[in-house]
Amino acid sequence: MANSLARATAFLLRKPRFPIACPNRRLNLHEYQGKALMQRFGVNVQKFRVCDTVEDALEAAKQLAPGAQELVVKAQVLAGGRGKGEFDTGFKGGVKVTTSPDDVGKFAREMLGNRLITKQTKKEGELVSKVTVAQGFGPPRETYFAILLDRETLGPLIVASPAGGVDIEQVAEETPDKIYKVPVDIKKGLRLDQAEDLAVKLGFDKNVAEVSQQMINLYDLFIRTDATQIEINPLGETGDGQVFCFDAKMNFDDNAQFRQKDIFAMEDRSQTDPRELAASEHSLNYIGMEGNIGCLVNGAGLAMATMDIIKLYGGTPANFLDVGGSVNERQVFEAFRILTQDEQVRAIFVNIFGGIVNCATIANGVTKACRDIKLKIPLVVRLQGNNVDAAKVIMKESGLNIESADDMDDAAQKAVKGAGI
Ligand code: GDP
Ligand code: MG
Repeated sequence: MANSLARATAFLLRKPRFPIACPNRRLNLHEYQGKALMQRFGVNVQKFRVCDTVEDALEAAKQLAPGAQELVVKAQVLAGGRGKGEFDTGFKGGVKVTTSPDDVGKFAREMLGNRLITKQTKKEGELVSKVTVAQGFGPPRETYFAILLDRETLGPLIVASPAGGVDIEQVAEETPDKIYKVPVDIKKGLRLDQAEDLAVKLGFDKNVAEVSQQMINLYDLFIRTDATQIEINPLGETGDGQVFCFDAKMNFDDNAQFRQKDIFAMEDRSQTDPRELAASEHSLNYIGMEGNIGCLVNGAGLAMATMDIIKLYGGTPANFLDVGGSVNERQVFEAFRILTQDEQVRAIFVNIFGGIVNCATIANGVTKACRDIKLKIPLVVRLQGNNVDAAKVIMKESGLNIESADDMDDAAQKAVKGAGI
């Protein structure tokens, strides 16, 4: 999978006029899924097969070997840096190139069923349940090509470099003049002259026409699939002048799910944070973090303020969780379930401002969840606003060990203390 220069560039280029408080999961696809989409849009990829057993991989190697100079085996995980990655078994490299079909079986055996650790995975790595076997034509000349949405130019931006490959982050840092940025007018699309100019800058002098058409096809794919990012690293040229997208990283806008159903159906849920998946099933905005105070808050602004105030008093939040304005008892229960399943969480801090939401609904949800889950860790609840008096009565009469607080400072200090910090 490609490196994350595009993401980093988008981050560096952005100058948000509003704080970005709303979490967005941005669907991430495997390389093999991205490449299948590319094929539909006339983008060149090497012939490949997706395999989930060693036998499949050997069979694929036999089929692909004729006409190929080499065979390439790649572990499929939702993270980049596979080439330089290492398996939990000590086996090195999630991308292997060989000329022997037998080696393909050996590599597949080393990869399948083991965890690949790269600089982009969590520290225990990701389980490899699929590999691809592809035709190769010798080491390519490697360039970098990405399309992303850019806040500065308020539209698609192409980021490209003749110095592609696994060290693109280093190129961006040490020789930023080798990185080209081309804003695209969203109404006009990528113009042929822009693409041709870029093809020359990337060193494709002998095949400008083909490469610029590939860029236009990639741009078409980006727009028509509601992608937020397409990153090809490397966009490569083989010794005999063939041009391929050797790697593919694609992300899509969650807001477009309703019209991109076939793409969203491809999501590999086994490699997504299970807490985030559970939260999204109940329309809760959740982002897991590494601290130990679980937060349940309504409104993204208040959620941010809650995380800040926890930090101010020496604690660390375990998550961002915005239950939203129309939260019901069921969602409060599910939110508690997600928080308590996280072993790191040592205290829960509920911070709700009752504007649209009725505080009594929260109080009922909280007390029910405490009973059903048999909550064993300290719980601090700060409610203000709509129907707060009734909510306080519900919590008091529940007889549960709930620590109430009126203001945020007091509540945050109690939560930090409850977590034993
Ligand atoms: P990543 O490490 O997850 O970004 O995976 P890539 O698919 O980009 O592969 C990493 C590196 O392996 C590339 O930068 C190339 O140098 C090399 N590589 C990838 N595909 C091929 C191939 O088909 N043939 C050869 N010879 N090298 C390849
Ligand atoms: Mg790559």
